[in-house]
Amino acid sequence: MAKKKSKLAINGGPKAVQTDPGDMFSWPIITPEDEEAVVGVLRRGAMSGWDVTLQFEREFAAWQEAEYALAHSTGTAALQAAMFGLKVGVGDEIICPSVTYWASCLPCFSLGATVVFAEVDPNTLCIDPKDIERRITDHTKAIVVVHYVGYPCDMDRITKIADKHNLKVIEDVSHAQGGRYKGCKVGTMGHVAAMSLMSGKSLAVGEGGMLTTNDREVYERAIAWGHYGRFGDNINTKYLQPLAGLPLGGHKYRMHQMSSAVGRVQLKHYDERIAEIQKAMNYFWDLLEGVPGLKAHRPAKRSKSTMGGWYAARGLYRPEELGGLSVTRFSQAVAAEGTPCGPGVNKPLHLHPLFNTFDVYGHGKPTRIAFTDRDLRQPPGSLPVSEGIAARTYSIPWFKHYRPAIIEEHAAAFRKVADNHKELLKDDPGDPPGLGGWHFLQHG
Ligand SMILES: *Cc1c(COP(=O)(O)O)cnc(C)c1O
Repeated sequence: MAKKKSKLAINGGPKAVQTDPGDMFSWPIITPEDEEAVVGVLRRGAMSGWDVTLQFEREFAAWQEAEYALAHSTGTAALQAAMFGLKVGVGDEIICPSVTYWASCLPCFSLGATVVFAEVDPNTLCIDPKDIERRITDHTKAIVVVHYVGYPCDMDRITKIADKHNLKVIEDVSHAQGGRYKGCKVGTMGHVAAMSLMSGKSLAVGEGGMLTTNDREVYERAIAWGHYGRFGDNINTKYLQPLAGLPLGGHKYRMHQMSSAVGRVQLKHYDERIAEIQKAMNYFWDLLEGVPGLKAHRPAKRSKSTMGGWYAARGLYRPEELGGLSVTRFSQAVAAEGTPCGPGVNKPLHLHPLFNTFDVYGHGKPTRIAFTDRDLRQPPGSLPVSEGIAARTYSIPWFKHYRPAIIEEHAAAFRKVADNHKELLKDDPGDPPGLGGWHFLQHG
């Protein structure tokens, strides 16, 4: 007798996931050690100083394998400081992937610079090195690369291109703290790295950001930009010395010491915790190896590259292997099985009106082109991979613990939907226009 096919939960069948996940998805992991560190800052009335922050920076620099670390109030501030550190200024262009969080590039506007977007690679979801060279002009100053949802960028090719054209590289490590590229820590291969440490990220300290570099001048420019209290005798760069005491950017970017205190504790446990995440997430993908329509988003095992803390982990979708089933319908069906799943990634930034029409500062023309006489805006259709990538990606559960039985249930949900995809084809409404979001985490 033929066995009866399991019916999809979205069509009234039993759910694939039956077990309560407990704290599988809870993050960050907060223990009395974090609480005591915060209370210590409160009791000392040291919220606004920088003694704890200096300790955090020292420990962070050692861990990040960088000479200098400078803590910031946010990752956005750290990214802007990184741009200023590299002397991105009036009339300059930076190259940035279109599919990323806005803070990877948007702070360049307030420096008088603008952005040219590059395509992402459909398999890594990171900036496509092949596309970078086409975007370079006489005005290009820097390339911002984003190790997108944990995947390390192709740094060998990127640094080669940058060196050839005498460009600087900013690594946005907000999605990949602790990740490795061919054994090297991400954030150590460009001229400067900046990253968010806000609570939704894998290294989560509260609100906060970190800039790291081996270049003393970049470090000092970042201090001068947004840390007036620390802009003093410690500065070696001659042209900065007479300016000490006031922030060149007119910004105050100091980290809150309750964040620094949490950061010190989180960092201490971070490598051990992400090792467990890596084990759990790799197990999930191992279970789904070979399932039609689904492809793991992770580097090859032999590459010595890792996904860091697997921030906001995604899977690659191949609708052509599932009769053309839309990722929208697919992820609805997976979610109905009891596991977190949704379509898409960050929307392509080049299509947002802020990068096309809006005049932020009153130049009398859109800010994107206010500092140049070239219209470098990129209309719909100009970056087809970035524009189509949401239909080929979905979120997967972000396991924080290696608990095989639970991971197996969640993997079974994805497999079940792929196996029974024919049930979904007849009432597939397709993907809506503008799939994805401008930001995608609950804390985003
Ligand atoms: C979160 C994020 C940032 C910004 O960091 P904040 O701490 O939120 O200011 C920058 N880049 C990327 C890629 C991010 O995901």
